[in-house]
Amino acid sequence: MNMTQLFEKKKPVFSLEIFPPKKNAGGIETIYQTLDGLKDIKPDFISVTYGAGGNIADKSTCDICAIIKAKYGILPIAHLTCVNNSKADIDVILESLKNVGVSNILALRGDINPDIAPKDDFAYASDLVSYIKARGDFNISGACYPETHPESEDAVSDILNLKKKVENGTEHLISQLFFNNEDFYAFREKAKLAGINVPIEAGIMPVTNKNQVLRMATMCGASIPKKMSRLLNRFENNPKALEDAGIAYAIDQIVDLIANDVDGIHLYTMNKPYIAQRISNAIQSMR
Ligand code: FAD
Repeated sequence: MNMTQLFEKKKPVFSLEIFPPKKNAGGIETIYQTLDGLKDIKPDFISVTYGAGGNIADKSTCDICAIIKAKYGILPIAHLTCVNNSKADIDVILESLKNVGVSNILALRGDINPDIAPKDDFAYASDLVSYIKARGDFNISGACYPETHPESEDAVSDILNLKKKVENGTEHLISQLFFNNEDFYAFREKAKLAGINVPIEAGIMPVTNKNQVLRMATMCGASIPKKMSRLLNRFENNPKALEDAGIAYAIDQIVDLIANDVDGIHLYTMNKPYIAQRISNAIQSMR
């Protein structure tokens, strides 16, 4: 199924994101534990990251997508970045995805790793989108940034670049994490004004660790509202309380987004099924 069909059929779409386990943390085998814990949520799709954090990727994204489809009967989306890949590298990956029947791709530029010189074939995600579109029958999704991509000069140029990505063949967008829904609503309005009419899913990350969230927020340019920073400070030394508060905050955000007619919710699960389950249970009647 392609994303246009999915979003025409269902609102809100509810999807999950996982990452390939690190090799020193049990490798691909441990992904079964994660997926066993996520399958009962019955997500509309599960996306699998690729070389996130600027790390050199391997075949595991494709392998995990194949498992999601064949063993769990859930629609997979494979993330694919171009910053460290040549056209020939991308061809190999597209062939592997085709061979396992994965046709949905989240096409990204990728994080730039200061220790690895980027390859020259693709400058932006929109170049990758055009390249994939010319190469086969793939459905393309893309990333967007409610608080503007950190490298962008300003919100206007970021939105215009996003528009190009959509015009090149991106049929669905997933947002970067954010903690203030008003940022998402303002962005959605600007995108609409610019003529971006594809479904936009809101990326929600449940916070369970203060240092981790501060690190991620800095990296991706997400601001921390007072309500969130009070919670982080109050519960930083009480992991269970911080987990409960982080889950409550995420549920609160999701309820408000659904009430405001969001196209979909994309939950960054951080490979923690128990947290995703609690959130899914709380919003079950709204899905
Ligand atoms: P682009 O769309 O190329 O945008 C990057 C910057 O370039 C923006 O500032 C944009 O405004 C600007 N730009 C775009 N086109 C032009 C142009 N024609 N001229 C001038 N400027 C332009 N990273 C990973 O490594 N692996 C993952 O699996 C991964 N998954 C992600 C999933 C989601 C939902 C999101 C939101 C991000 C993800 N990332 C991942 C992070 C992402 O790779 C980084 O945020 C990266 O810095 C930008 O990727 P992009 O695809 O949005 O880039």
